[in-house]
Amino acid sequence: MRKKVVILGSTGSIGTSALKVARDIPERMEVIGLAAHRSHEALTQQAAETGVRHVCLTDPEAASQFRAPSGTTLHEDNDGLVELATLPEADLVLIAIVGVQGLRPALAAIEAGKDIAVASKEILVAAGEAVMTAAKRKGVRILPVDSEHNAIFQCLEGRDSREVSRLILTASGGPFRTLPAAELANVTVEKALKHPTWEMGRKITIDSATLFNKGLEMIEARWLFDVEMERVEVIVHPQSIVHSMVEFIDGSVLAQLSTTDMCFPIQYAVTWPERVPNTLAPLDFAALARLDFEAPRVDDFPALRLARRAGELGGTLPAVLNAANEIAVEAFLGKRLSFPAIWETVAAVMAAHENIAHPVLDEILAADQWARDTAALVIAETPP
Ligand code: MG
Repeated sequence: MRKKVVILGSTGSIGTSALKVARDIPERMEVIGLAAHRSHEALTQQAAETGVRHVCLTDPEAASQFRAPSGTTLHEDNDGLVELATLPEADLVLIAIVGVQGLRPALAAIEAGKDIAVASKEILVAAGEAVMTAAKRKGVRILPVDSEHNAIFQCLEGRDSREVSRLILTASGGPFRTLPAAELANVTVEKALKHPTWEMGRKITIDSATLFNKGLEMIEARWLFDVEMERVEVIVHPQSIVHSMVEFIDGSVLAQLSTTDMCFPIQYAVTWPERVPNTLAPLDFAALARLDFEAPRVDDFPALRLARRAGELGGTLPAVLNAANEIAVEAFLGKRLSFPAIWETVAAVMAAHENIAHPVLDEILAADQWARDTAALVIAETPP
């Protein structure tokens, strides 16, 4: 089957990989809608290349500069994202927008009966319970694009979560995996932006360095695969070849491996439940020679414990962790905060939060905004 796919966040790192997949397997994937924030020039090019009839720019300034090719409708604003996510002809909506902005279109797509492919962590971190409940009610699929969750999804193949003893997320460990704890305070923005194995956006690269990325992924996994946090573990695997593993109750472990290219999980989300050939680089085991594993440094990188706690308590706390982290990362990138102060800021905001159980979308968005404001106050009081 050739799937008609809408890509929200088409000019970012995941979006451009998704367009690469569409070029690689055109008999399986047709792109019918593209949305970006403000990269109107890149969007113009993508629209011309794909011939889509619907595009969206959420930034009004960028929208005013966009020259739509004839036959293409420009949608604007956050409403535009919802319009694209619910296009009647769409089979699958890929959500690859950074931040909670992807939440409303994700829920709208589910309500419209569309399967969604999730690359934005916020959707399952901040609203995992609401999203999974809505998906179950509407009978739609949530297909994970994050490499770890896509790996687990492949290992599980629809098995019941009662057969799972542990989900084991692999982490590269980031650029400071072996850095002595005492030196973490002197980490610079430039060093933190050098990821050892994956090429990604700035925010997620810093998250990989603090291990908040893995913390967010623990929470995502908890909702996506319906297991308690107790059964979600992290192991450091510096080569990023094993993308994650599942240990079943009989002690057998299944793992998914591939070269580090996001096109693999994107393609699987699009062609699932089938597999089709492509032009991606295969693994060369002899060249790899070895795969290493080591325990994460939970005492030196507090992100994992903070995330475990947020995932255990649920409610609005995961949204708060996520939003506080976003503001702290921005402050670190702006050289306003030290590297360890990212964790400290998140911990302080979480401690000040009054948690709401089983939140609806508006409560989640309110908690997100509260956490942003509170994080800004905490940062203002942090000595530079
Ligand atoms: Mg990941």
